[in-house]
Amino acid sequence: MKISQHSVVAIHYTLTNDAGEELDSSSGADPLTYLHGTGGLIPGLEAELDGRVAGEAFSTVIQPAQAYGEIDPAMIQDVPLEALAAIDDLRIGMQLQTQDPNGHQRVLIVDAIGETSATLNANHELAGKVLHFEVNVESVRAATQEELDHGHSHGPGHSH
Ligand code: ZN
Repeated sequence: MKISQHSVVAIHYTLTNDAGEELDSSSGADPLTYLHGTGGLIPGLEAELDGRVAGEAFSTVIQPAQAYGEIDPAMIQDVPLEALAAIDDLRIGMQLQTQDPNGHQRVLIVDAIGETSATLNANHELAGKVLHFEVNVESVRAATQEELDHGHSHGPGHSH
């Protein structure tokens, strides 16, 4: 069957950046399984998968607007080092878990550390990046009613 709205799709993928460096891959692990058409994957990748069948392999280049969005400068802020004094071993590239005023988890990445302040970046780490995917479609099946009710796919080890 072809991938369409509410197919449960399993893919193997490798993600690289413009420089050809590998950022992520399902190689050596279970394939990534998702419920198609519900925003489970970035929009550009779901669009590329639409209509494909099990066994297909393809590569695609996805622009930031169809992936994790452009970098939002308003989400990059300088914070006085005193405000971060409780953090041991503060270093560039460190990920800090925080909560926004609505109680949602947010990850801030330490972009820079100066003499009196540090630059914290709340953008997704892949924001602003052009993404290169190599994809193999492993399997395609119709979703069960329970999966449709939950809005996500079920597989081994997932039955809530
Ligand atoms: Zn569920």
